[in-house]
Amino acid sequence: MMSDDRVRSAPDALTGVDAGHRLSLPPGSANRRRADAARVSTHHSPPTSMAPSSLFPALALAAMVPLSPVPRSLHRAGGVSHEAGRYVPSRVAPEPNPFTDVLLRSVRGLARAVPGELPISVGYLSVQDDSSLESDAVDSAPRTKVYQVTPVFQIRFHQGWVMVDGAYSQKEAGTGGKFFPDRFDQVVTALRGARLVVITHEHGDHVGTILLPDVVRDVAPHTLLTKQQEQTLLFKPRPSAKLDAATARRFLVVDYERLLPIAPGVVLIRSPGHTPGSQMVYVKLASGREIILVGDVVWHMAGIELQRQKPDSTSQQMREDRAPLEQEVTWLKRIVQPAGIAIAVSHDGTELQNLASQGVLTAGLDTSAP
Ligand SMILES: [Zn+2]
Ligand SMILES: [Zn+2]
Repeated sequence: MMSDDRVRSAPDALTGVDAGHRLSLPPGSANRRRADAARVSTHHSPPTSMAPSSLFPALALAAMVPLSPVPRSLHRAGGVSHEAGRYVPSRVAPEPNPFTDVLLRSVRGLARAVPGELPISVGYLSVQDDSSLESDAVDSAPRTKVYQVTPVFQIRFHQGWVMVDGAYSQKEAGTGGKFFPDRFDQVVTALRGARLVVITHEHGDHVGTILLPDVVRDVAPHTLLTKQQEQTLLFKPRPSAKLDAATARRFLVVDYERLLPIAPGVVLIRSPGHTPGSQMVYVKLASGREIILVGDVVWHMAGIELQRQKPDSTSQQMREDRAPLEQEVTWLKRIVQPAGIAIAVSHDGTELQNLASQGVLTAGLDTSAP
């Protein structure tokens, strides 16, 4: 499943996986991922950003209003200042933790920022089922096999839908696990037919399908990337997740400080850490049910339950920033979960099944016309 993204175990480490879900793991995936890291291209100026105002009128306005009064760049300014005739290092104020109960209140409030009927369901479909050791996903976890998936999510409205993530093709998926070509075809159909597409982050197993040449032409004009996602795809790309400047100009690109409502009941939450462009997607359904799609903030629900990140060595290989991830994991456990909001971890197949059996998520995509 996550050729870009996961540390796989050696095949001989696997025993006794869920029937129907597990299969052989390819050798050398970790090597491939390391080779993917640190590939930096030098490009020309990035494409001009455009506000995605055509779909939801409130979006363009919201995109222009930073929710924090102090720009991030000022917090991180550093450098030197001129003081009493000599240069001395300026102090850099520590950035306050934005992941608080106030943030959750803001998220919930903004769920009604874009007028309209709330979505009726969140469906998911995995293009590749696989397994891995829990100890690879969660620091100090047991070497127990867990069911892992590579899904897309569909926020379904009565009229149309918004897609979250695009998964990847069989070629990008490699030979690990079981790939489902028919499901991949459904994903392409859902991406093409979506009113809007967003991605939780700029890794190949979440954006690869969207970047395929015969897909990007149709899907980019209604796909919203964040500025950080675009920058990674342009300037620090991985082989299965890279953009050239001309193609990047086809996308909607938005820069927001912390929160961005994109549709009735749907709010993006900027969550850098796993990647610079990571974001969570909050969804409030017409039923009142609330769900947060957290992408790869953690790879397994146990990471949130136990408040443990990925193993340190894995984080380093992934070039994660563990400080904000710590804040995000703590927020999900101590504030989001107690508020009764369901947490959907992208690659945790068992947890997604649990949420489907509870009626929180819907298994499969609904691409029927409204
Ligand atoms: Zn992933
Ligand atoms: Zn990832």
